[in-house]
Amino acid sequence: MDKERVKKLIRELIIEIGEDPTREGLKDTPRRIADAYSEIFAGYDSDSELSVQFSEDSEMVVAKNIQFYSMCEHHMLPFYGTIQIAYIPNGRVFGISKLVRVVEKFSKRLQIQERITKNIADELYSQGVKGVAVIADAEHLCMKMRGVKNDAKVTTSAFRGTFEDKKIKEELLKAIHTK
Ligand code: ZN
Repeated sequence: MDKERVKKLIRELIIEIGEDPTREGLKDTPRRIADAYSEIFAGYDSDSELSVQFSEDSEMVVAKNIQFYSMCEHHMLPFYGTIQIAYIPNGRVFGISKLVRVVEKFSKRLQIQERITKNIADELYSQGVKGVAVIADAEHLCMKMRGVKNDAKVTTSAFRGTFEDKKIKEELLKAIHTK
């Protein structure tokens, strides 16, 4: 991200909103936004190779309540919430910090919630897990602040795996929903 260019663009935007970009409270705002955006959109620079932390096998691993913050690609307003991941390892288990990094890799972008869950499921499945379920619950500021002005939470989910055995999918779902 070219921060100098972002600063110029934000200054233009401030003028279009009807404000004075030279007044005290706003004069550093373009720089602050440029700095903030480099964090908020850090997912584009993430390598997040999912190296495996330990090799003990386990029947199912469930990681719950991973916080995420993202920006909706339709309005560039935040949506945020929690992600639950359940997967059936294939002789390899990921450390929780790796899962958090995968969540950040795909949430710190211009996104839609449906794609975040799919991206995470795809990434884990490509690492050879037998099956994975990802569920995200989020609140969208674009829904709350404009348009429908509704407080509804949105839930999305994605599954990857060979679920000929429907029981595996059911077990993953149950694991995610059990408190
Ligand atoms: Zn939106």
